[in-house]
Amino acid sequence: MSIKAPKGTKDILPSEINDWYKIENAAKEVFEKANFKEIRTPIFEDTCLFERGVGDTTDIVNKEMYTFIKSDRSLTLRPENTAGVVRAYLEHNFYRESPPVKFWYKGPMFRYERPQAGRQRQFHQVGIEMFGIQDASADAECIMLAVEFLNKLGLNDLIVEINSLGCPKCRQEYKDRLKKAIAPFLDGLCEDCKNRFEKNPLRILDCKNEECNRLFEKYNLKNTVSSIKLCAECDDHYKKLKKYLDILNVKYEENTFLVRGLDYYTKTVFEIKSNNLGSQNAVCGGGRYDGLVETLGGPHTPAVGWAMGMERLNSLIPNSETSKIDFFIVSDNQPEAVKLTYKLRNKGFSAEFDYNTRKFAKQLEKASKIARFAVILGEDEINNNYFTVKNLIDSQQTKMSFDELCELAKS
Ligand SMILES: [Zn+2]
Ligand SMILES: [Zn+2]
Repeated sequence: MSIKAPKGTKDILPSEINDWYKIENAAKEVFEKANFKEIRTPIFEDTCLFERGVGDTTDIVNKEMYTFIKSDRSLTLRPENTAGVVRAYLEHNFYRESPPVKFWYKGPMFRYERPQAGRQRQFHQVGIEMFGIQDASADAECIMLAVEFLNKLGLNDLIVEINSLGCPKCRQEYKDRLKKAIAPFLDGLCEDCKNRFEKNPLRILDCKNEECNRLFEKYNLKNTVSSIKLCAECDDHYKKLKKYLDILNVKYEENTFLVRGLDYYTKTVFEIKSNNLGSQNAVCGGGRYDGLVETLGGPHTPAVGWAMGMERLNSLIPNSETSKIDFFIVSDNQPEAVKLTYKLRNKGFSAEFDYNTRKFAKQLEKASKIARFAVILGEDEINNNYFTVKNLIDSQQTKMSFDELCELAKS
């Protein structure tokens, strides 16, 4: 039996690669304009980094990590990249630099989930992280860059949802209020929610379980607990964020029940949804995580960032065409064809010849599939030092010199 790619993984084929380049190039362009630098961290890290950094009450850490033991060390394939970036930030003493320190990343992440449409076990994320700035202008810049990046990819019909989860101080009061409201029907909730009740009751609002949601409705949970009462500092930060977004012309909606799936967020959280292709899709999620650097052993460092799933982005943008090479050399004189191919490549063009020296008709057929121009190099051309060039888009055929050939491909 032939071996297939593991469940939940996918080959990215040459016919799809231009879509990936499109996303990666847009990321590089938009982020570097704002002085974010790319960082590439390892695909696996010490397991405890994620237990501490992502949070041991999250589904990611509890159920979805690919963990393995090697030489008595527990290692885990990264399920997300913020923890790894923070680890690198500390390991290389970036906190000693004058803030902000800004990174962007792209790459594969791994979560053991039930594969379903648009969800893979190896998937890719692109994201940004900004360290060292407490002011809400940093949150606004991150949100703005997400919008700019999505716009660059042709996604314009966006909904930006924002919320503030406050700091540990003002969140405690909210947690208590939430627990009080949930306690009467806690027994009916799913196992996950029961676990979250003590450790992280906020996450209960995020539960996707149908029965849980039915109970929330029945007990009118969202209205009973209303929203978090922010302390003066958090309230000021949230107001500033909204002001900055107004200045930047970023339209947003406030969603007081937006809590996000990770434990580490403080103050700002946000999500961006796209209406492209009819249905509404969440394409970006992020927020501020002022406690994470300290949790991972560093000095107190405010930080904010977001991540986007690249497969999701890919499904929302129109497919690019497979790129064609500049020249295909059609000839029955192999040594001359090889010579011309390398001469063109040395000039910076992409070129190929027929390795099997098949009949001209076969070679032209191949050329029309993979190249922009066919260069016909027959006996007459070789003896009289010219080329017959066929434009494979409009089928026009012209005789020309080598220099003219080069000029043609540049146009
Ligand atoms: Zn607060
Ligand atoms: Zn639940």
